[in-house]
Amino acid sequence: MASSHTVLMRLVASSYAIAQKAGMIVRRVIAEGDLGIVEKTSATDLQTKADRLVQMSICSSLARKFPKLTIIGEEDLPSEEVDQELIEDGQWEEILRQPCPSQYSRIKEEDLVVWVDPLDGTKEYTEGLLDNVTVLIGIAYEGKAIAGIINQPYYNYQAGPDAVLGRTIWGVLGLGAFGFQLKEAPAGKHIITTTRSHSNKLVTDCISAMNPDDVLRVGGAGNKIIQLIEGKASAYVFASPGCKKWDTCAPEVILHAVGGKLTDVHGNALQYNKEVKHMNSAGVLATLRNYDYYASRVPESVKKALVP
Ligand code: AMP
Ligand code: MG
Ligand code: MG
Repeated sequence: MASSHTVLMRLVASSYAIAQKAGMIVRRVIAEGDLGIVEKTSATDLQTKADRLVQMSICSSLARKFPKLTIIGEEDLPSEEVDQELIEDGQWEEILRQPCPSQYSRIKEEDLVVWVDPLDGTKEYTEGLLDNVTVLIGIAYEGKAIAGIINQPYYNYQAGPDAVLGRTIWGVLGLGAFGFQLKEAPAGKHIITTTRSHSNKLVTDCISAMNPDDVLRVGGAGNKIIQLIEGKASAYVFASPGCKKWDTCAPEVILHAVGGKLTDVHGNALQYNKEVKHMNSAGVLATLRNYDYYASRVPESVKKALVP
């Protein structure tokens, strides 16, 4: 029998279950103790066994259920038979009880592009900064990020043995974002969150021009957007190439669904159609509130150096 649910809501519900399994794999690799670290382009651009297994798990699980999707994952992996144990077939029923925003009700599977970052914050993962890590599944339609799922496998890991480890945040434009408590950053303070592993002069010049009261240097694009929606930071500023479409797609949706804004340093919206280049060459500027304060302070020299 054909499902009465829309393709988009079925995809989000499945992605939620798939992201939860991904979180379990991320924890299991640490527990087993062999990270299998490989350097990609440099010593700060790493891949671990968890990045590989999770990408296989997410991409194969999605492709089995939704064979006409375009799926773009971060890792370059040889195409090989994926272990059945990595396949997740479930869906999160609570999501299927939500209404699909009417503008997305007729979307066909072949019109959707899924951007997958199997493990965001790999450098920090290898250094034991476990709550910096997220799994990101972003869904785009007509070049726009419209739905996103973020699993944070080690949420609560410093809260003691009784705390429930891990959480999944999800959102759809026009419906909202769920799985966390929205909180505003302290009023009147400019708290900037930025990279800890990929900084350079452009990054620091841009931040200095914004007169920050505090600068938080943490790993992960997903993690930094979570800081914005939970009131820990007022702006995510990264005036450099380095961040890719799979880093921003899911987090952008969650931020936009609660009224925030994510652009490059020029104020351009990011595009997510399947032909787009992967690199966010003109950096990332994101806020929950007060976007104009930060956008108006990006130095001309920084803008000149970052061509979209
Ligand atoms: P970060 O804020 O440093 O954690 O970066 C956010 C995301 O962008 C992570 O997935 C990083 O791996 C990626 N990224 C940022 N800068 C670079 C870079 N210079 N080389 C490789 N990946 C980068
Ligand atoms: Mg990443
Ligand atoms: Mg990654």
